[in-house]
Amino acid sequence: MQTTFVIIGIGKSGTAAKNLLLAGGTPSDSVFSFDEKNPAAQFTQWDQIQALPVGTLVVSPGVSLASSQITALKAKGWKITSEINLACAYLTDEVVIGITGSVGKSTVTSLLGEALMIDDPNAFVGGNLGTPFAEYALQLITKKKKAKYIVLELSSYQLENCADLKLDYSAITFLSSNHLERYPSLDSYYLTKCEIGKKTKNICVLNESSKDLVQYRTRIAGKTELVSYQKSNDKAFIEKSQLIGEHNLDNLAVALRLAKYLKLSPQALEAMTQFKGLSHRLETVGVINGNLYINDSKATSMDSVLVATQAALTKTAKTKTLFLLLGGKDKNLPWYELNQLSQHANISFIFFGQCGEVAQLRSQLVGALYTKLGDAVKSIFKNIQPDDVVLLSPGGTSLDEFKNFEERGNYFKDLVSQKIK
Ligand code: ADP
Repeated sequence: MQTTFVIIGIGKSGTAAKNLLLAGGTPSDSVFSFDEKNPAAQFTQWDQIQALPVGTLVVSPGVSLASSQITALKAKGWKITSEINLACAYLTDEVVIGITGSVGKSTVTSLLGEALMIDDPNAFVGGNLGTPFAEYALQLITKKKKAKYIVLELSSYQLENCADLKLDYSAITFLSSNHLERYPSLDSYYLTKCEIGKKTKNICVLNESSKDLVQYRTRIAGKTELVSYQKSNDKAFIEKSQLIGEHNLDNLAVALRLAKYLKLSPQALEAMTQFKGLSHRLETVGVINGNLYINDSKATSMDSVLVATQAALTKTAKTKTLFLLLGGKDKNLPWYELNQLSQHANISFIFFGQCGEVAQLRSQLVGALYTKLGDAVKSIFKNIQPDDVVLLSPGGTSLDEFKNFEERGNYFKDLVSQKIK
């Protein structure tokens, strides 16, 4: 008898899983969707699933496996799988690399992706970043388009639910406190990340600049290797990077190590040094009239703001000013952590948005306050001197003025590029 599948959560990953099941021959009357928050799903109530014959749940990364509803269905005999697991069934001899970490995943995945695309135009770059893995399997079925290399960004939630995933190589980019709302402790969150070692056949590359990661090295099964920009034999090569900030040089050191294990061509390695960064993450908008503008609209944690500011300071001469745009919408952030930036006399703090005043008060940093991001940016245009640098790394979310961080970053970039005219 045909198994019943219920896709739990119909976001990007759930939709890809559904399409794959259907393309793989599962009859459409055996595939159901559930989403508490999306009325487009067939079911929005858990008890509707209870009424179905016991089958398989395809759980999206957004839904906790520890939730009482999933636990209850498991106890009734439902099997648990994921979009990634479903895709694994279609793999043959592709070389698969998995990247995880608290931060740096997207950057390392994209850096390695740049190199893989040179040596293999069919290479697949995705997972948690961009295209869901199931879309690769779908393309195998429908277009017979096979990759030699696959690089997957893997979140901790995805790692919890991908028993069939086998990696040839892997990397952990950084470990720091995150997602504690879904894990009972920092230790259990870190150990979930460390699970990637068990899935890796050859070697798991670790960023040595992450102190917590170095401490957890012994908890990672299989062979591991520590890598960093500072200790690399390829320092000169890494320094050719277009990316801003030493943390990104570590990211390149990790990606380069993986690329060397894969024996990629010199042109492929070179392509990684040309990567300009992901949009809205320390993205160089351009140098306009001698001023460097940096868009880090994605930064919505104090850690990200601090990392970005340190990176931007390396691009600012001591006698020049770094204009730092802080604000947006608050989510009860520990703004006081930014107070350490007061030691840099050449930073000019500019606060904006719904939480501009809160950010100013809690950080105790001195700076002008504007209601709107646009007004804040225009005030900088009036005061900026040659060789000064401007960084949008707001800390707060974009939701006071914008739909998302992408819209906020694009607005900033538009304002800056209008200045060129
Ligand atoms: P992720 O995909 O894991 O969220 P990204 O590559 O998108 O990570 O980077 C997000 C932010 O994380 C960056 O803007 C930067 O502030 C910080 N970050 C990235 N890589 C590192 C690293 N190696 N060390 C410390 N912080 C990093």
